[in-house]
Parts: sequence; structure tokens; C-alpha cells
Amino acid sequence: MPFAAIDESVGRFDADVAIVGCGPVGNTLAILLAQHGHEVVVLERWPDPYPLPRAVHFDHEVARIFQSAGLGPALRDISEPAEVYEWRNATGTTLLRFGQRGDGPSGWPYASMFNQPALESLLAQRAAQLPTIDIRRGVEINGLTQTANSVTVSAVDGTAVTARFVVGCDGANSTIRRLADLGVHDLGFFFDWLIVDVVLDEPRVFDPLNLQVCDPARPTTAVSGGPGRRRWEFMRLPTETLDELDAEQRAWELLAPWDVHPGNARLERHAVYTFNARYAERWRDARVMLAGDAAHQMPPFAGQGMCAGIRDAANLTWKLDLILTGRAPDSLLDTYQLERLPSTRRAIDFSMQLGNVICVADPIDAAARDEAMAAAVGDEPAVLPDLPGLDSGIVHATSPHAGRQFVQGDIDGQPFDDVHGAGWRLITIDPDTDLDDDLVAWFDSIGGRVVRIAAPSDVHRVWFTDHHTIWALQRPDFYLYGTATDSNEAAQLLTELRDHLAHPDPALHGIRT
Ligand SMILES: Cc1cc2nc3c(=O)[nH]c(=O)nc-3n(C[C@H](O)[C@H](O)[C@H](O)COP(=O)(O)OP(=O)(O)OC[C@H]3O[C@@H](n4cnc5c(N)ncnc54)[C@H](O)[C@@H]3O)c2cc1C
Repeated sequence: MPFAAIDESVGRFDADVAIVGCGPVGNTLAILLAQHGHEVVVLERWPDPYPLPRAVHFDHEVARIFQSAGLGPALRDISEPAEVYEWRNATGTTLLRFGQRGDGPSGWPYASMFNQPALESLLAQRAAQLPTIDIRRGVEINGLTQTANSVTVSAVDGTAVTARFVVGCDGANSTIRRLADLGVHDLGFFFDWLIVDVVLDEPRVFDPLNLQVCDPARPTTAVSGGPGRRRWEFMRLPTETLDELDAEQRAWELLAPWDVHPGNARLERHAVYTFNARYAERWRDARVMLAGDAAHQMPPFAGQGMCAGIRDAANLTWKLDLILTGRAPDSLLDTYQLERLPSTRRAIDFSMQLGNVICVADPIDAAARDEAMAAAVGDEPAVLPDLPGLDSGIVHATSPHAGRQFVQGDIDGQPFDDVHGAGWRLITIDPDTDLDDDLVAWFDSIGGRVVRIAAPSDVHRVWFTDHHTIWALQRPDFYLYGTATDSNEAAQLLTELRDHLAHPDPALHGIRT
């Protein structure tokens, strides 16, 4: 779609997509859309990026999405792997140890610790390389109108942007959510925590890197804040006021037992946050969608708030791309919330479960918890369950492994996505089979590519062997549409995908059980 395209019923479009909010989610969405050549205007109320750290963890799947946004090796420079997360009680007894060493299935460490402003700076640099992104800072949106073909957002300064779609990536207090009347469902989780970010003058080894102290006298989180940085989080006690906790002197007092003081560290910031668990009841109203914190918020105990938003961006991108280029109907967007909400709910629920264990301030309750948990600790770190997949939407209803994430192996020593890009990929380790030309031409028309791997890396070989299959049909956001054991089944899978994209109505395609 060319910039400033003309629609007779609308007049002039300023952009294909207007994104409100330039946090990590809005910025990532803008980059992913612009990489498809779409014209994107990003409207951000503040003149400069938010300078203070919030998120400190992302998982391997989200790292792969950042890789697809072109952050690549720079992402490794601003992050450090987090292999084991240990929880201890007040006396130092281990209550829980979990995590995995090495790279996860997506070709990135299972868990990485980072500094959010450093990530946002990388995103800003990447966005600046893409000519179809126009980031307008200092523009606060306070108006929204839709027609059948367009949507206009207007700003406090009197300017307006008309686009084919608007995505509200405007954070927890989303104006777009309010203007589009997309209500919020609150799960009633409220705890206040003092967040303290520290830069140590001298490097220091913390073992374990990430520690949760389940001390009812002061539940405390002590984790990496990315290379060279540490994050402490201290829960407000029932006997304490917000003002008592939210003071620099109090932050230093709480850091003192960790041998952190003004003589060896710089306090980057301290702030009290109320952790919430909420999500928008509807994520779309016609041409308006919500993504990131605008659509959902969760306590940070699982480190999944931003991650969920980055998954939203990856999900929306390929759908908007197909719609904007006339290759799929607008109703494809009905699958956005359908796919994203269940996975997000699981992340919210898991975060709340962790929070309910951590945020115990009653010593008797804590003692009972400690006894039960300590008895279950094994020698090796526990392995967390797989990250949630997709149960419905654009996934095959009966094909084995549909809705799971596909692995990223190497091709000739390079990460698969760096060689073949991120898009619809039909990947096989059977190099000799052929597919019908018309079907391949259609697949090509949606940006699909058939990849025959002649010499599979261990990651691909093991995956195909363990899953008893030889074809994998991967979506642009790396979930599997389905798998096939021979070329006839693979052709059938493509045929069904063609039908699915032409008629995305979920009622026609069933739900995976
Ligand atoms: C203490 C803490 C720890 C966390 N830890 C983790 C973690 O380890 N891992 C993780 O994944 N997540 C974590 N999170 C959550 C994560 O920080 C957020 O989910 C993430 O920042 C949300 O990104 P976003 O782009 O959706 O929203 P935001 O970053 O809030 O960006 C929204 C943007 O919209 C702009 N805006 C708002 N209204 C308007 C308007 N009317 N007009 C124009 N612009 C507007 C705002 O100025 C802002 O720049 C943590 C959060 C906190 C507070």
C-alpha cells in the first residue's frame, strides 16, 4: 500500500497503520509492519523515550521475535542468560529452584535478563533504519473516530492522523481502550512493591543470579537488571504506608543488608508500583486494536508482561500485512484476541500464582508454605512447563503439534531465520519430494517459502525425529499451523491453510482439544 493512498470514501490516508504509544510494544509492531513495506505513523505523547527500567526478563520465544525485528546480535550484547531462579525462605532454605541451561527451542537462551531502556534504544535505532516509519513524539492522542474504511486519531495539539487501522499500544491507562469503549476485566490482585534499580561501581558476582527471598518480614526479589545492573524489589508490608516506602533513604536502608550502599553503587531509580492483573474484555473494535499493556497487565513475577505484548505485535503484524495487501479479509482480525487472550490469561494466572506464594506477610502462613515447598526441592532445577501455545485461530484443528512453537535450528552455521527470514515457512527434512506448482505459487503469494533442509542441524533433526514427522508448516510468528508425514499430507495442509485464510471464521475450523 503506497503512502498517502487514496480511498474515494475517505480521501487521503496518512498511513496504513497508526500506532498510539511508542513503548517496546508499539515500537516493535511498527518495525515488524515496516519490514513488510507498510507505512506506519507512531504517535507518542512524551518527547523522549521513558528512561527508567521496568522489564528485566524476556524468554527465548520473544528473543526470536526481536531477532525477526532485526535486533540480532545487539540483543545478545544488552542481555545476559538467566539459567536458574532460586527461591529461599527467611533462613536461607531453598524452597524452589527452576530454570534451564543453554538455548531454548527458539535458538536463544531460555531466559534473558536485560535493561528496558537499552532495549528501547535498540528498537529506536532499528526503527530509524526503516523509511516507512514516521515516529511523532510530543503528540498526545485524545480523540478517535471510525468510518467503514478508515480510522482517525486526533491529538491535543489539534493534529490528526487517518489510517486504515489504529493499534493502541498506549500502556496500562490506555486512552485508545477508553475511547473505543473496550472494558477491562480486573482479577483483583493488588500488591505494592518498591522497585530499586542499581548500578554497582565494581562488577560483582551474584550467585544465584536471580533470587527470590520469601521472607514474610519483607518479601524481596534480587535479580539481574541486565549486564552491569541489579534490580531489587521490596514488598510493602501491611504496617507500612506508601510514603514511608517510597523514599530514597528507605531504598538505601533496604539495600544495606546486601552490602549495597552509596559508597559502592549508584541508585538509578526507586519507585513504588502497584502490581495488577487485568485484561481488556475486547481487544478490537472494527479498525481499532489494543496490544501490550493496553490489552493486559500482570504482576511481574513471571517476567511476562512485555513478553505478552511482543507476542501481540508478532500476531497482529502478519494478519495486518495480509489484510492491507488484500490477501485476506478483515475478519482475520477476529482471530487476534481469540489466539492471544488464552495464552495471556495463562501468563496472568501463572504470575498471580507465583505472587500468591511470594507475597505472604503472615509468619504462620509462611512457615506452612516453607515446609511444603522445601520438601519438594530436588537436586536439579525444576523445568518450567512449556510456554503456552495456540488452541484455536489460524491453526489446523487436528494436525499433530499444531499451535506449538517450531524450533529455530541452524542452516550452515547460521540461525534459520537469518537465512530464510521469518514468514510462512513449509520446512522439510525430505529433500526429494515435490509439491503442486499452483499450490506453491499460492504459498509464494502470501510470502511463503518451501525450505528443504538437506543437512539438518541437530536441533532440526532431533525435533523431526521426536515428533515423528518430516514437514512443518510454520506461521510468521513461529507457531505451527500443522505438520505432515509425507508430501500429500503437506499439500493438504497448504490447501487447508489457503481455505482458512480466505475464510478465517473460527466456527468453520474447530478448536484444538
Ligand atoms: C517493576 C516492573 C517489572 C517488570 N518486569 C517485567 C519483566 O521482567 N518482563 C516483562 O516481560 N515485563 C515486565 N514488566 C512489564 C513491562 O514493563 C510492560 O509490560 C511493558 O513496558 C509494556 O510495554 P507497552 O509498550 O505495552 O507499554 P508502555 O511501555 O507503557 O508504553 C506505552 C506508551 O504509550 C504512551 N502513551 C500513553 N498514552 C498516550 C496517548 N494518549 N497518546 C500518545 N501516547 C500515549 C506512553 O507515553 C508510553 O510511551 C514489568 C513492569 C514493571 C512495572
